[in-house]
Amino acid sequence: MNVQAQDQDVDNALKSIARNLLVVGILMLTLVVGVYIIFVNEISTQEQTISKEVESRSNALREYFVVGKHMMFSMQRNMLQNLKLAEAEHLLKHEISRLKDYPQFSIYALESQLFDKGPSREEFFLSGTLTGVGSATAISRRHMQEIHAALALDATLASVINSLPDLKWAYYTSLYKFIYLAPASTVERYHFSEEAYKKAFWQQAIPENNPAMGLVVTDVYDDGAGKGYMISISLPVSFRNEFRGIISIDIGVDSLARLLSETEISGFSALVDEKHQVIIKDAGMENTLVEHKPGDLVFIQSILDKQVSLLHKVPRKIIWWSAFKSSVARMVVIIFALVLIYMVFYQRQLVREIELLADTDPLTKLLNRRAMTRIAQTMISYNSRYSQLICFLILDIDHFKSVNDNHGHSVGDVVLVEIAQQLIDTVRESDQVSRHGGEEFLLILPNSGIAEAYQLAERIRKVIVSKSFTDKKLNISVSIGCAELRIDENYSDVLKRADDALYRAKNEGRNRTVTSEQV
Ligand code: GH3
Ligand code: MG
Ligand code: MG
Repeated sequence: MNVQAQDQDVDNALKSIARNLLVVGILMLTLVVGVYIIFVNEISTQEQTISKEVESRSNALREYFVVGKHMMFSMQRNMLQNLKLAEAEHLLKHEISRLKDYPQFSIYALESQLFDKGPSREEFFLSGTLTGVGSATAISRRHMQEIHAALALDATLASVINSLPDLKWAYYTSLYKFIYLAPASTVERYHFSEEAYKKAFWQQAIPENNPAMGLVVTDVYDDGAGKGYMISISLPVSFRNEFRGIISIDIGVDSLARLLSETEISGFSALVDEKHQVIIKDAGMENTLVEHKPGDLVFIQSILDKQVSLLHKVPRKIIWWSAFKSSVARMVVIIFALVLIYMVFYQRQLVREIELLADTDPLTKLLNRRAMTRIAQTMISYNSRYSQLICFLILDIDHFKSVNDNHGHSVGDVVLVEIAQQLIDTVRESDQVSRHGGEEFLLILPNSGIAEAYQLAERIRKVIVSKSFTDKKLNISVSIGCAELRIDENYSDVLKRADDALYRAKNEGRNRTVTSEQV
């Protein structure tokens, strides 16, 4: 194989690689874009679903807190009325007679009869327990009036305790160092001490820290009465422009956590205050609250005015993973479809290459006899329909055997390749050139009469004679037979006449062109 033919092979291989790369590139791009669209779509579906779930979670929480808030205000109103009635000495006083000192604790207390095993003059059951620092014998009039008012809250406290699930305590704490706390307990289990004033329910709600005297939701703190960590909702009571005490309800952190995780939602929830400080959070929420990475889903829903909001966060890893999981089937389908498309493309390319190989002479890269026969027959049927001229040239190298004999077969091969190239260079674009076999070439010249064909044949012959071939500078001549297709003639007929003309050219001494008319 000569250098030119090798170059052409390399060229073809490169073209085929480039075509393959282009197709693979387009398919990859389609894959990436397809997967991206599916993924982005899935993420937005996930967002919508989670958003709805967060909405319903926050509705449940909101209900809870709104009920709590309204109860707080109705307790406050009750307490104010009670204070007013107590001031006018209109409140029943019989419970007060049961106030009892507990010197071992330095307190006085009024226990519910449920815990009071002593004789009672009247049947009554308080829903709470009243305990205060000091002695029942040293209580001022105004102090006593406030105890009356607090005790008259009893029914309200009971209904609050019963209507809000998971409520730990409902209570009124007074500046007079007493507390009325429901549900009822024993003084041994809990009684008031000044420690209570240090707790969040008091500290965060007193006028110094709550000048607007509004509803306060505290941070989480440890309950003094043995019910663990909780938050309080507190509301100060101010009577005749004077701060008197605080009404509070306590909600256990465990109950809130349950409310936070009641429905299954991917991601983590937390309750945050107006400064977005965490009140309570899911276990998975650690340290991820404030810092949001791009792609994280963050929802903030107001639960109780500005004081409490639900912050729900789904880290992008979770979103992406679940979006991936639910779109993986569609992605696999896309991948399969693209692989299938590539396989079809590859198979067609193989077929094309095989066809090309089957039609090509491996040495000269010209059309082979098989391909030329097919083309010739197509052209002949076309020409007979439109009665156009078509000529056939058979070209045979003179004394080629001696080239082989004198210089070797491989030099003979190079001569064949160079002659083939010469033919290609000399004929028109529309002419067809093939290797007919051995050292013979067949040319088909559409739209050419015998005179034109003769001219072309002579041109070819003269060019070849004038040149030297291979690095051995060999002089080569050729003999050419021409025939013009006659009406109703077939391929083998016209080929036969061209061959006869060639035979005559050989006989007449070679290095010449003979037309079939001259035979
Ligand atoms: P003539 O002028 O009568 O055509 O004489 P010739 O020697 O060209 O004709 P002949 O038919 O006697 O010999 C043709 C030679 O071409 C014989 C064969 O070895 C040689 N040949 C055929 N195909 C190839 C080929 O692919 N490569 C080489 N190197 N030689 C070939
Ligand atoms: Mg020959
Ligand atoms: Mg021959």
